[in-house]
Amino acid sequence: SLLRRRTEEAGSAHGEDSPLNRPTTALRVLVTGAGSGIGLGIAGYLAGRGCAVCLTDLDAAAAARGATDLRARGFVATSLGLDVTSQQGIDAAIAALEPDGPDLLVNNAGLQHVAPLEEFPRERWEMLIAVMLTGSAMLTRAALPGMRRRRFGRIVNVGSIHSLVASPFKSAYVAAKHGLIGFAKTVALETADTDITINTICPSYVLTPLVEAQIAAQARAHGIPEQRVVDEVMLRPMPKHAFVTIEELGGVVEFLASDVARNITGQWIAVDGGWTSQ
Ligand code: NAD
Repeated sequence: SLLRRRTEEAGSAHGEDSPLNRPTTALRVLVTGAGSGIGLGIAGYLAGRGCAVCLTDLDAAAAARGATDLRARGFVATSLGLDVTSQQGIDAAIAALEPDGPDLLVNNAGLQHVAPLEEFPRERWEMLIAVMLTGSAMLTRAALPGMRRRRFGRIVNVGSIHSLVASPFKSAYVAAKHGLIGFAKTVALETADTDITINTICPSYVLTPLVEAQIAAQARAHGIPEQRVVDEVMLRPMPKHAFVTIEELGGVVEFLASDVARNITGQWIAVDGGWTSQ
């Protein structure tokens, strides 16, 4: 697996302190919002590739169910309740991953609120920024000292095509997701002296329970079959005309976490079926 860093293959050119000269170990991964959807899927994908995953979620029971399911499949998984807006919770989660926190942090927790700005409740606006932008930043802040001690770390933010383009009525979501890219560029510069990278993946629609609920709601609202919502609303802006799958996202995270991606930092990767190429 790309995620297994091999001492034998490293060669001496990298010097004694090179991260390539560490003993072979699978990555220890912390995923936020892993009780459901994309976070759960990425955690499962990485567990299947030999990583030890810690599933965290505001919904502690959902994270625990996910971890139990992965263990039943023979994988290494634990879980923790974690509200990414709680500094105490963040500190406890990093401390729980002894020693030195995660090798790979996946900032995935997120939520949506759809309303024109004039009708957007201030508390909801602040909540979306608190979870998706400040939460990702504070968790990264807490994970960095351990990554620096090990001279290795990977941070992957789950952004969105809304990190790159906008849709009406999603001002807080679009602002938070755009913010992740600027945040990652800055931290990329601050960590350039060591083998730590931070990047943002930008998916268009992924068929998670969240999106399935949106399809059903739109079909009811417009009085049309669900398949028409999928074809005419969801997949229309995607030239490839297919939902992005969890496996595709897992594969991109795996690549970004690997040694060959050590010079990819502060970047974003759109996984959007061509949406933003138009
Ligand atoms: P989801 O609702 O299935 O999962 C989100 C998870 O985040 C939930 O388990 C929820 O409990 C958790 N969460 C919410 N607030 C939290 C908090 N304060 N602390 C910790 N956890 C919290 O949604 P999803 O579709 O899997 O979305 C996951 C991420 O992917 C989000 O950041 C979302 O913006 C992004 N995304 C989703 C899609 C898509 O099509 N589904 C597309 C692009 C980006």
